[in-house]
Amino acid sequence: MKTKIVYSEKCLGYGTWHVEGPQRVKTAHDILKSKGYEFVEPKPANDEEILSVHDADYLFNVKKGLVEDSDTPAYTNIYEFAQLSVGGSLLASKINGFSLTRPPGHHVGKSGAALGVYTRGFCYLNNIAIAVKESGKRSLILDIDGHHGNGTQEIFQGDEKVAYVSLHQSPNYPGTGNFTEGNCINFALPGDYGGQRYLETLDKALGMINLAKFEAVAVSAGFDTHKGDLATLGLIEQDYFEIGKRVAKLKKPTFFVLEGGYVGEKVGLDIDCFLKGYEENK
Ligand SMILES: [Zn+2]
Repeated sequence: MKTKIVYSEKCLGYGTWHVEGPQRVKTAHDILKSKGYEFVEPKPANDEEILSVHDADYLFNVKKGLVEDSDTPAYTNIYEFAQLSVGGSLLASKINGFSLTRPPGHHVGKSGAALGVYTRGFCYLNNIAIAVKESGKRSLILDIDGHHGNGTQEIFQGDEKVAYVSLHQSPNYPGTGNFTEGNCINFALPGDYGGQRYLETLDKALGMINLAKFEAVAVSAGFDTHKGDLATLGLIEQDYFEIGKRVAKLKKPTFFVLEGGYVGEKVGLDIDCFLKGYEENK
């Protein structure tokens, strides 16, 4: 059965001038629609769900729009967009779907910018972290976005119910994740590393996980590792098929949450390849 895509066109309503703009998600949506995927509409997350990860002062500030930093604008009503994006992640977790929403989340920690980084990298609320916390399940978070998920690492560092695995480009934003710390396993890779070496590294990283400890897998699915994108590791469509295959072989209930990926056409085709690799091998 095809993975359902969680999507609301409301997520297109802000930030047309920004690199993290609506077109990337709209184009991906249109491609996935043309390929026959089924779409489901999320509901906004509530405060209680958001407070499972973020502290009350930070949530207050997001609601008031007091969250501007140099790469993360305080758009009008950004809280409502962020709340709906968290809702997408929560629904994806319940139905083992793919949340195709924005804003992304993995750079934001409990109270905003994380691990000493000065900005929140286009993120307001940590979608995947909230869904993992709310599931209550012992979870492996696999972050395949080309940037290190410093927010997710901060939230789960030392949490024995969760392991965090990230492969990302270095040097690049946010500059964290250069080494493995306890339950947070990091591989910092040079730009245009290439598909074959990437997949070997992914196999090595997943081999470090005691899968018997975990009930579920959550994937921070960013596609800015695609050749030419903001954190290129030189990957092409077929490489995402191979990544999906490896996720399937973990044999756990799995959900997916969009992070980065800034060329909509590539994002759509990469998601389709990734989900095909996943579905044909689970
Ligand atoms: Zn990224």
